[in-house]
Amino acid sequence: MNAALRLFSSTLEDAPQYLKPVWVRIYVFTFFSCIYEAIGDISKYRNANLNVCLHFQWEEVSIMDEKNIPIRTYQVCNVLEPSQNNWLRTDWIPRSGAQRVYVEVKFTLRDCNSLPGVTGTCKETFNLYYHESNDDRESYIKESSFIKVDTVAADESFTQVDVGDRIMKLNTEVRDVKVTTRKGFYLAFQDVGACIALVSVRVFYKTCPLTIRNLATFPDTVTGADTSSLVEVRGSCVNQSEEREEPKMYCGADGEWLVPIGGCLCNPGYEDKGGACKACTAGFYKAKSSDVGCSKCPPHSHSLRDGATVCDCHSGYYRADTDPPAMACTQPPSAPQQLISVVNKTSVVLEWSPPRRLGGRSDTSYKYPRLGSDSGSGSQLCLPCGSDVVFSPGQTDLKATRVVVSELRAHTHYTFIVQAGNGVSQISGAGTAQSVSVTVTTNQAAPSPVSSIQATDVTRHSLSLSWQQPDRPNGVILEYEVKFYEKDQRERSYRIMRTFSRSVDVTGLNPLTVYVFHVRARTAAGYGEFSASFEFSTNSDPFPLIGEGVNSAFLLLSVSGVGILLLISAAVFIISRRRSKYSKTKQDSEEEKHLNPGVKIYVDPFTYEDPDQAIHEFAKEIDVSSIHIERVIGMGEFGEVCSGRLRLQGKREIYVAIKSLKAGYSDKQRRDFLSEASIMGQFDHPNIIRLEGVVTRCKPLMIITEYMENGSLDAFLRKHDGQFTVIQLVGMLRGIASGMKYLSDMSYVHRDLAARNILVNSNLVCKVSDFGLSRVLEDDPEAAYTTRIPIRWTAPEAIAYRKFTTASDVWSYGIVMWEVVSYGERPYWDMNNQDVIKAIEEGYRLPAPMDCPVVLHQLMLDCWERERAERPTFSQILNMLDKLIRNPGTLRRTGGERPTATMLESGVGSEVCVSVVPEVCMPEWSVCEWLQSIGLERYRDTLAAAGYTSLDSLLALTHQ
Ligand code: AMP
Repeated sequence: MNAALRLFSSTLEDAPQYLKPVWVRIYVFTFFSCIYEAIGDISKYRNANLNVCLHFQWEEVSIMDEKNIPIRTYQVCNVLEPSQNNWLRTDWIPRSGAQRVYVEVKFTLRDCNSLPGVTGTCKETFNLYYHESNDDRESYIKESSFIKVDTVAADESFTQVDVGDRIMKLNTEVRDVKVTTRKGFYLAFQDVGACIALVSVRVFYKTCPLTIRNLATFPDTVTGADTSSLVEVRGSCVNQSEEREEPKMYCGADGEWLVPIGGCLCNPGYEDKGGACKACTAGFYKAKSSDVGCSKCPPHSHSLRDGATVCDCHSGYYRADTDPPAMACTQPPSAPQQLISVVNKTSVVLEWSPPRRLGGRSDTSYKYPRLGSDSGSGSQLCLPCGSDVVFSPGQTDLKATRVVVSELRAHTHYTFIVQAGNGVSQISGAGTAQSVSVTVTTNQAAPSPVSSIQATDVTRHSLSLSWQQPDRPNGVILEYEVKFYEKDQRERSYRIMRTFSRSVDVTGLNPLTVYVFHVRARTAAGYGEFSASFEFSTNSDPFPLIGEGVNSAFLLLSVSGVGILLLISAAVFIISRRRSKYSKTKQDSEEEKHLNPGVKIYVDPFTYEDPDQAIHEFAKEIDVSSIHIERVIGMGEFGEVCSGRLRLQGKREIYVAIKSLKAGYSDKQRRDFLSEASIMGQFDHPNIIRLEGVVTRCKPLMIITEYMENGSLDAFLRKHDGQFTVIQLVGMLRGIASGMKYLSDMSYVHRDLAARNILVNSNLVCKVSDFGLSRVLEDDPEAAYTTRIPIRWTAPEAIAYRKFTTASDVWSYGIVMWEVVSYGERPYWDMNNQDVIKAIEEGYRLPAPMDCPVVLHQLMLDCWERERAERPTFSQILNMLDKLIRNPGTLRRTGGERPTATMLESGVGSEVCVSVVPEVCMPEWSVCEWLQSIGLERYRDTLAAAGYTSLDSLLALTHQ
């Protein structure tokens, strides 16, 4: 245990005269007295000796221990006189912020039977009291002001023989008490007639010690006041770290830290070394706080100082802005190689090979700045190309080593420079050093096409057209040729006109006719391409306008037509969706049935339109006169739960639980109330609560189930804390798993499996009950989602997106296992729901409860696998638990186990565990029921044949 114990005080010593035992020396005692000395400050007091005031018959006695060292004790031994009431009180003990203190008392006690003639008056216990006070010098405290902590009995008492043999029988008892109301307290020991010697008293409290978790420091924290309380503590990030998510932990009552959430990350330049952030050493770096640790500088870089966040590049090497810090430093590429050019009229194809050195990078690209001249003579290497030149596939940032440059001027020298570059070219300042150039001369070429034609004047029989000179005339334009035809005629017959100017009047056209025009230019190199087609129409009389009424009617028709069309499409879409959904549901259920041939499938009562039809299909109507209500045993969602008796004709009277629906209910409440019976009535399994019937024909409405004497499992376990053997606990878990396997086989998902919804009968048989939550969730998804979901028991996928399946029931089963083994402890203690969700998300899982066998905790962890497909099935869980029951050795605890389970070989060659009979077993519990509860009912006949018909006879079974 990591818990730190804060010691307040210590000890008593010396043995009483009549004992003369061998004493274990505990601590050197300095003084006991009734004189109230100043206590001094708290830190001094923590380890100071206890000041005890002697009252009445208690005597301070010094004796020698077995090593002849003097020790002192307080003793009292008025065993001959009746009605003893002797008090011994400590001085005031400051509580120093503690909320729960522990008192460890070491004492010896004389066996009353070994004292002749003291019968009746001699006791073997003493009482421990406390009194909270702000006054550190109360001289007189009334007996009634003390509150009793406990009656302390000795585990071992000594006799005259022990005294003679100098055998030490020292008892050590620890009690804890909540002290929260005052600055300190007094302890007192009340003797009521025992022969006792107090040897030492140690008072301490527990803290969760200062610790560092996830790079956050959590201070030394005093535990909470109650045994189940958790103290929420916020951590602070260690030096040179920053918060990833607010660090938080809980200090548990026994001084252990629980549930770490969030944490910190070392700053850039620092790494986590055993919980502290240490600077990266020279030659190493860390760029981001989320990086795992410092890394060696990448090639061609270095860091000279500690704490580097990035490594500097060696001279001549560079890092681009977008390069990750982990990337090596690099260089610009060398020039492209072997540049060749092929001229085709006014186009040039350029091709080259990649640079010899790529500089350690893979992002080499090329750009083609072109320098050109417009004359047939020498190059003018300083003029960039005009914007009309076309580069294919592009001019910059190209990966390919080939480019086609077109739309150049005819008869012109061009110099092309191809430049290689990469991500570090700019930073390095490398320019034309990585370039290669070639000079070419373009050939003669026809003019480019005219790009557009406008109609400047339109009459019934003529069109006046004009256009711009081609973008690239490639020489002097000698004339333009205009080709045109009626659109309807296509190009079957066309006319040609020629003109020197950039306009033409086309006459003799038909009115109201669309004509298509193309224009091309001619130079000394010949005609260029025709332009694209341009259409113009000659005029006529104006068209008669369509009447406005007609127009709006048309519009109306169009709009409504479109509307109707949309409506029809929507309807068709919805119907087809519905059909497909329905057929899917049908298909699903058929598939399911196919998967589980012969298995009964649960029917959701809410699929019945008439709830009464469902209830009468699945539940028997009971005549109210056969029910005899006795007392109220609980409060359900719809009203009281009572116990009583049911006598059905021809059957023996049985005990039942009766749930009734309180008056003034709504239709919905009636339906919800009865639905639980409709669900329960479909089940028939020894680990599912059995429905006896319902009363619906008179009021109040009632649901009658079998009676479970021990009520709900969580309360039952809390009441019997620590009283069962581990095998008994596993027996209970087995029953629950068996019930859940049955439900899952029937395709029923419970959604609210928790110890509070398990009922326990007098034979410790556990039965699954409460079939209400699935209904609630289906009814009101939103409300259920936010307010009704039992977060602590529910699988993450069910919380996040309502994926409730048998696998989510398995998760809940794991939580039930934890509840059972911890005797009804609240899962995740008093953490709030949000923290629980967050902790689960971060991978936290509940730790093993005290004394929990490792195999059981492992099974819990399996149930809490994040991936639901990874969780075991109920069938696997059941097998596993059966194996554990048959081999109790695998359940051996780490300490403090109650050793009751032993193994015997049975005559049939299998193992039978015979000592798992529950301690609270009722007399009527039969061998059959017991075998059933541990899943070994198949041995019933074998045992019966051998004459083992009662539990008593079973207990007499020997190994042979
Ligand atoms: P419920 O409405 O089912 O949650 O029941 C409320 C409380 O009534 C439970 O917590 C039990 O303590 C008690 N109870 C319900 N059913 C039974 C039963 N069959 N036998 C004994 N106690 C029951």
